[in-house]
Amino acid sequence: MGDVMPAQETAFAPVTPVMAGLRGHCPRCGKGHLFEGWLKLRPTCEVCGLDYKFADPADGPAFFAMMVMSFPATGFAMWLEITREPPYWVHLITTFPLMFALCVLPLRALKGWLVCSQYYYRAEEGRLAPPERLATSDELTRASNRTLQ
Ligand SMILES: [Zn+2]
Repeated sequence: MGDVMPAQETAFAPVTPVMAGLRGHCPRCGKGHLFEGWLKLRPTCEVCGLDYKFADPADGPAFFAMMVMSFPATGFAMWLEITREPPYWVHLITTFPLMFALCVLPLRALKGWLVCSQYYYRAEEGRLAPPERLATSDELTRASNRTLQ
């Protein structure tokens, strides 16, 4: 693992994974589209040809959306119940749609961000490296410095 990117990747301007992901753009060129539907990934980038097979955010976007957005939705439901004491059908037409919107609407941006971060940080499943490919302490230091930037 070095600091020098392959020649194919240096042909593109640097793309931040957060901005590319939030906009649903390709993590390599920043111009192509990541999605072909609401949440379905395209097979490749239409601009640079990057194969999106590496992308596997699994249930990460759903987890983050539920964990973060459940707090304001639950807070609203509690506030409504404590201050107004409405009948249950009021929760059905206010709290339920709010909870649904807060958990579903951010999924696309979160999935884009996770896929772009996966590409940027070269995240992949762990595997055993042969002894000659074990990173030296200098390589690990450079990699951790790059991660912190
Ligand atoms: Zn691209």
